Amino acid sequence: MDLFGNPQKRDAISPFVQLLWEKGSLYEAEVIDNLSLPFLNLRGESGAEREALTYDAMRRREPLIYAGRIASGDLLGDPDLLRLEDGGYVAGDIKSGTGEEDDGSGPKLKKHYGVQIALYTDILERLGFAGQRRPFIWDSLGDEVIYNLNTPIGKRDPVTLWTVYQDALALAQQIVAGSGNTVGAYGSKCKLCHWRSACVEDLEKIDDLTLLPDLGRARRDAIAQHIPTVSALAKTNINRLIGGAGSPFPGVGTNTLKTLHERAQLATNPSPKPYRKTTILLPKASTELFFDIEVDPMRDICYLHGFVERHNNDPKTEKFVSFFVEDISTAEEERVLTEALQYIQSKQPCVLYFYSKYERTWYRNLQERYPSVCSETDIETLFDPLRAVDLYYDVVRKYTEWPTRDFSIKTLANYLGFNWRDTDPSGAASIEWFHRWIETGDMSIKQRILDYNEDDCIATRVLLDGINAL
Ligand code: SF4
Repeated sequence: MDLFGNPQKRDAISPFVQLLWEKGSLYEAEVIDNLSLPFLNLRGESGAEREALTYDAMRRREPLIYAGRIASGDLLGDPDLLRLEDGGYVAGDIKSGTGEEDDGSGPKLKKHYGVQIALYTDILERLGFAGQRRPFIWDSLGDEVIYNLNTPIGKRDPVTLWTVYQDALALAQQIVAGSGNTVGAYGSKCKLCHWRSACVEDLEKIDDLTLLPDLGRARRDAIAQHIPTVSALAKTNINRLIGGAGSPFPGVGTNTLKTLHERAQLATNPSPKPYRKTTILLPKASTELFFDIEVDPMRDICYLHGFVERHNNDPKTEKFVSFFVEDISTAEEERVLTEALQYIQSKQPCVLYFYSKYERTWYRNLQERYPSVCSETDIETLFDPLRAVDLYYDVVRKYTEWPTRDFSIKTLANYLGFNWRDTDPSGAASIEWFHRWIETGDMSIKQRILDYNEDDCIATRVLLDGINAL
């Protein structure tokens, strides 16, 4: 899209993305300012000059070069670091994120970091300056994480990062040459992308399958050769397609295929209505708490616990209760956690409603951080399904269908007629506001965050009422 999309159709860069860039640059500057090793600093030189100075520096065997530039053929790289090791150079990059990721199956190297530093390694090899294929990341924890490009990615995955890089490079070269046909895929990543409007317009024109909730790029690519559009999927005789042999599409199970078929039928229905697939039994109590937290992942702090409470289903009893930090200290994070827990306790018996696992995961984290505030058992009791309901995983995804593109709380509450007061309501935006509030102390920004959080809590209530009405 950056090469071939119509620049007039670009959306503005989101303030949250700008904040990420800003924080990334600040972190890099901080690491370099605190570096005790001697190094050659090429930051500030222009592109061509920087490239020539980098080659000169490598020829005279500078031990560490910061902000160099290297190029070969159609490849260009701006490695943060070039370090002399065993007679050759290895590249490194400074990241304001962690050097590894963990999806629950143990720490793994990040492919997107790997591809970036493999590109630098490739250029160094083509130029004849390379050391071993072991570039590195200096990460947000202050660790150096080595990316051994020649070892398999995982225990069960024999592919190496070098192969991943080569495949990515071949695809990128094909796209740049105009010989590959690229097509977007609607997904959660699109929300922060500056091509969102243009892509959605294109996807709507071709009635792309990714416009169905949860379908995504991988499933679309598996299905699209046989069933290219939402309308075609809606018209497919799904039982005949599945037959006795199960789903014909790799990676798309029989039940998933049936669900996607139902969603396609709903999406193409001229007067679509959401529906439930079975009886939904929810815990009952006269007091209900609709709960939402705000977290700043960059500062690793949970800064706001918000609740809308309602009694006897009566909208007139509804009120917003919040616990907001005064600063970013751990003492403040602990204080608001303590007060939020006391508040929930004071409302017992009640049912707690929230949307997705985020609140529970963060409460478990906070309990580990502040074990004197509450025990593990307290948290598990708080989130016991008999009194706490994750409306997203335990209700919406399992038992309901909606004629929408996704099942985010924003999409579903909007569908039910609820509008946020803010013109740009999103978790990402609220993080950006929080940063600005910390920097300026501007109370209007704090109020904006509180209003946004209150609206998220009300949206959860609107959704519960919408589900009960199905
Ligand atoms: S598909 Fe989504 S992430 Fe990809 S370019 Fe389009 S809007 Fe951006």
